[in-house]
Amino acid sequence: MKRSLYLSKSQYIRGIQCHKSLFLYKHHKELRDEISATQQAIFSSGTDIGVLAQNLFPGGVEVPYEGLSIAEQLKMTGYMIAKGVRTIYEASFEHDGLFVKVDILHRGDKGWELYEVKSSTAVKAVNYHDIALQYYVLAGAGIKIKKSCLVHINNQYVRNGKIEIDKLFAINDLTVDVVGMQQDVANNISSMRSMIEGDMPLVDIGPHCSDPYDCDFRGHCWQHIPENSVFDLRGRGIDKFAYYNRGQIAFADLPLDELNDSQRFQVEMHLNQDEQVDTDGIQEFLGNLWYPLCHFDFETFMSPVPLHDGMRPYQQIPFQYSLHIQRQEGGAVEHYEFLAEPNVDPRPDLIKAMLEQIPKDSCVLTFNMAFEKTRIKEMSQDFPEHAEDLNHIHDRVMDLIVPFRKRYAYRWQQYGSNSIKNVLPAFVPDMSYKDLEISNGGMAMDAYHLMCSETDPIKLELLRCNLLKYCKRDTEAMVKIHQVLVEMVFTWKLSTGIDH
Ligand code: SF4
Repeated sequence: MKRSLYLSKSQYIRGIQCHKSLFLYKHHKELRDEISATQQAIFSSGTDIGVLAQNLFPGGVEVPYEGLSIAEQLKMTGYMIAKGVRTIYEASFEHDGLFVKVDILHRGDKGWELYEVKSSTAVKAVNYHDIALQYYVLAGAGIKIKKSCLVHINNQYVRNGKIEIDKLFAINDLTVDVVGMQQDVANNISSMRSMIEGDMPLVDIGPHCSDPYDCDFRGHCWQHIPENSVFDLRGRGIDKFAYYNRGQIAFADLPLDELNDSQRFQVEMHLNQDEQVDTDGIQEFLGNLWYPLCHFDFETFMSPVPLHDGMRPYQQIPFQYSLHIQRQEGGAVEHYEFLAEPNVDPRPDLIKAMLEQIPKDSCVLTFNMAFEKTRIKEMSQDFPEHAEDLNHIHDRVMDLIVPFRKRYAYRWQQYGSNSIKNVLPAFVPDMSYKDLEISNGGMAMDAYHLMCSETDPIKLELLRCNLLKYCKRDTEAMVKIHQVLVEMVFTWKLSTGIDH
């Protein structure tokens, strides 16, 4: 068989998502997008979970990927089966030019059982394809599989002491579906191989470009899409590909009367490079705030494996905050901050610092308050001894996003978004996140995880420094945005002579 017709499991899944993606991967790999740090973190997390799940069937033997050729992996797997090994991790099989590695292959009482491990919290459609291919290859290689299962994270698990592996993971038996898909697998492989040998398939962009995965050929396939296209419209409610297929792609081509109010507003403001100011609305919003005024922002991490007692998988855990306090109107702004030490539950010290630093009865201004309020509420439930004080803060949280969400203030440079990352450059153009090593919440989360494994004190200090700078920038940005709103009202009063 020609080398290009060999298929690994990931290539088969790529072909299920899009034939063109598989074709490009086989013939023009160089056109792939660069992998982002976030994607790399997701891959690494998947690997860690796979190793942890091996403890569901302890005492097995691993067939390593690193350091062994495919032929050696196949040989080692065959040897272990012949020797009667009951559990093989990363067992390797080949059949008809297809190569798969099985996360866990276990010899149960009734025969072989196949377990695929994922760090997700539920079974997804793509998992059926994944396991069906493994079954197909193993059956072809002469292994009779009695049971085919997906192992995934149980997001209801709450850690209490040592990780309880059997509670952290949920096992779904997909045997019936997987067996029923075997003819489809054979047909899929056949059509993928014919496609690979032919001309590049004419597949246009579509929802499949991000379902089930973000395709890594987007940079290549989407290069004809201009900036400010139908795909940049915020909000839901329209089928963007329907417009694309009709050739209505750039903002200027869109039928405004078919868009919802907010999308029409985004397009019109952009085309006219316009802004909108409702000074009454801004004044009313500002009038609902009071002093001391705290500008407050959390950074959080989450992990598929709860790191400390009382945590659930993927729970957002605050590990850092930045706080700017203005004690009276026009007064100086003071800065406070907290960043947890790595490898301890950050919440007890973070709560203590919050309760010490946030003045009682102050107005706690956040940007998009649902996130901060939910974290505060969760901590009040997880640490009932502080519930009263945390709820006191919770009930005093206000939201700086309101004047932007209500369109009291809008500039076309926000590109339809009310996120602080878009509002800041629109209203405070001399301030941005561009000079920072860490410039978004995902990077902050990665940096915290890195801190937990870093042993070099200099690198650790650098991570701390960068995290502190980033979180501080968020609340500095809020101070500036608030100031801009105050100045807008002030200027309007001056220009109209109105003072109310
Ligand atoms: S970007 Fe879309 S069309 Fe292009 S290869 Fe990927 S999935 Fe296929």
